[in-house]
Amino acid sequence: MKAALGGCGLARVDAEVLLAHVVGRNRAWLIAHADDPLPEPLDAEFAGLVARRRKGEPVAYLTGRREFHGLAIAVDPAVLIPRPETETLVEFALARLPADRATRVLDLGTGSGAVALALAHARPLAQVLATDRSRAAIDVARLNAGRLGLANVDFAYGDWYAALRARRHAMRRAKARAGSAVTAPRTFDVIVSNPPYVAELDPHLAQGDLRFEPRRALAAGVDGLDALRAIVAGAPAHLVPGGWLVVEHGYDQARAVRALFSAAGLGDFTAARDLAGIARVAAGRHRTQGTATPA
Ligand code: GLN
Repeated sequence: MKAALGGCGLARVDAEVLLAHVVGRNRAWLIAHADDPLPEPLDAEFAGLVARRRKGEPVAYLTGRREFHGLAIAVDPAVLIPRPETETLVEFALARLPADRATRVLDLGTGSGAVALALAHARPLAQVLATDRSRAAIDVARLNAGRLGLANVDFAYGDWYAALRARRHAMRRAKARAGSAVTAPRTFDVIVSNPPYVAELDPHLAQGDLRFEPRRALAAGVDGLDALRAIVAGAPAHLVPGGWLVVEHGYDQARAVRALFSAAGLGDFTAARDLAGIARVAAGRHRTQGTATPA
């Protein structure tokens, strides 16, 4: 194994993660068995993954998984790879989500489901609804929920808040058929989102892992704020009074996002930095006793 790792030309950590994946063990096991030979078929499989990695494919797509907030999340090229900075988003949302009572949470643009599942896992009494406009992403998120045994997450297909309307119509039809009393919620205690927020022409999109990730999960208009504008503007109509909107944004968008929150009438604005010290997460709450009926 030592020889395979040493001679492959990848960064040590990438090589170890790929080899551990191929042998079906963790990295600690690899280190303990460094002197064992790598059996022939596994050697070829490892070489194949190394070649793809050398062409730039993200390690998480090669292994099909990424650890996020302590959960093993399955990923494929239909979804963004969960980032460490997004754990800051989860922490910020959890700080606004009581653990001792039933709550309703909406995750807009769930992708792999990482954020929704981390919240559902940490708040067993919460009922989490996760949306996406990509059916392939919803499939991945659903698979993850099943594998993690999280029954308090549900999924809806569609653009931002339009997914809620589509789901209500579907549930109304199902209810009429089955005589069931299940209804889809109209308002939530916390709305959370890690939307696309990179500017369309940002050169980062042509670099590193981003080249292999779904463009629609990364880029949002000329200034990268198209998705955030829609999410923030629609939040008051979908939050309970006192409910929080918590979003992730780009490294240079803190001021613009604050202005969007203020324009939407969200108060108690709070910002958080990610582990790299970059302002990355914003939260604001719906203060007014709302009479608005969500569309
Ligand atoms: N933080 C990611 C990046 O720039 C972008 C993720 C997103 O658009 N939500 O790599």
